[in-house]
Amino acid sequence: MSLELINLWYIVAAALFVFGLKQLGSPATAVRGNLLSSIGMFIAIAVTLFNAEIISFTWIIVATVIGGIIGAVTAQKVAMTSMPEMVALFNGSGGIASLFVGWAALYGAGGSTFTDVTIVISILIGGMTFTGSILAWGKLSEVMTSSAIVFGAQRLVNAALVVAIIACSVMFVMNPSTDSPYLYAVVGLSFLFGVMAVLPIGGADMPVVISLLNSYSGLAACAAGFAINNNILIVAGAMVGAAGIILTNIMCKAMNRSLANVLFSGFGAVKQATKVEGEVKPINTEDAFLILEAAQSVTFVPGYGMAVAQAQHVVRELGELLEGNGAEVTYAIHPVAGRMPGHMNVLLAEANVPYDQLVEMDDINRRIEGLDVAVVIGANDVVNPAARNDENSPIYGMPIINVDQAKTVFVLKRSMASGFSGVDNPLFFGENTRMLFGDAKESISAVVGEFKG
Ligand code: NDP
Repeated sequence: MSLELINLWYIVAAALFVFGLKQLGSPATAVRGNLLSSIGMFIAIAVTLFNAEIISFTWIIVATVIGGIIGAVTAQKVAMTSMPEMVALFNGSGGIASLFVGWAALYGAGGSTFTDVTIVISILIGGMTFTGSILAWGKLSEVMTSSAIVFGAQRLVNAALVVAIIACSVMFVMNPSTDSPYLYAVVGLSFLFGVMAVLPIGGADMPVVISLLNSYSGLAACAAGFAINNNILIVAGAMVGAAGIILTNIMCKAMNRSLANVLFSGFGAVKQATKVEGEVKPINTEDAFLILEAAQSVTFVPGYGMAVAQAQHVVRELGELLEGNGAEVTYAIHPVAGRMPGHMNVLLAEANVPYDQLVEMDDINRRIEGLDVAVVIGANDVVNPAARNDENSPIYGMPIINVDQAKTVFVLKRSMASGFSGVDNPLFFGENTRMLFGDAKESISAVVGEFKG
């Protein structure tokens, strides 16, 4: 196939990416958007295989089979609660792939200085995305502490790393070769920088890391596209990079923090929340049922615990029963609830919750005082009033869903344990709060059972 024809097909693929992305913007069209983008990707990969510059198909087939099997098996097996970790590993894979593509471009016919610069950029961003993502995976899966790790000279070390990376990159570009020691130095330093960049971020700031690494993986691919002069890699990489930056911005806004503050200040490193004390008022499922049966308006506030309990289907069932009973039912979604951006939307869509019942944080907060019952299902940090009231709290300033202002709050969780950020929650001691202890799915199923008599 001629290069012109390949590029024409790339335009078709890019158009499908654009329309697909647009449709991903709404839950109602997201599945179609995903399919469109996948078709675009299939076209992009297929026509690339017609490139006359391909020397041998053997390694392509071997890599496709191995990668395909790993991808298919892990995607089948991964638990819904582990999706965020999987996304982190995907980002890391994208990063290391771009590093290799950039590196491989060095073996082509002598490139221009521009090409050499893009090679260094793809290696640099790809490398830091790889190790940063592995660390993010570790923090999310809690194989290591999920808190921010800060030490005395951290900023100094990071600044020295940046200087060393720039110096080695310049030295490499001035005299590029496959065995340049500066090339290996850039690879090693980029790995180290990825680790150093993610170490001081933890706790409630993790959503920013996830979206930022996603953006980096796109930028690395974009740079690799320039390095090997492949238009669709440039376009797709730029789209992922831009989408990731927009998401990062949304996540920062959701936490009322600036990006610089998230990246450099270390979550909760200096603050110590005021100790919370008071009386906890447990409730059983029969009493919860009686209150819900009398309620005119109920909002469900899902969080990470709903994903753990896989309670979304019974929650939808309870929602339908309440509606049938004459109550107005909504689902209030906090942008950082769960462990990945959009986590709650995905779970509720899977359970066929009507999209028009999903309400954003600001909307529900405007009318929360008039609501009869707010049912918090495995959410904790995103409903913690300390973010509003306690200046000493590490999450102070983060907008929350103000469930404490509803007439009655049910909190469904198994214990008094804190959420991902490790910050105590005064909501549990609130005058109008009732704790429904136990696994969320079991508790909701029991209430559903009461409704059904
Ligand atoms: P939290 O992590 O604050 O709280 C989840 C709660 O769920 C826990 O307190 C736990 O309490 C409860 N829980 C766990 N399992 C069950 C179960 N089977 N049944 C009932 N309850 C259960 O979740 P939120 O969604 O409120 O907040 C998300 C946090 O994660 C924020 O700090 C956010 O910044 C962070 N984060 C978000 C990411 C994103 O992109 N959305 C990415 C990474 C981190 P108990 O053990 O007592 O049951």
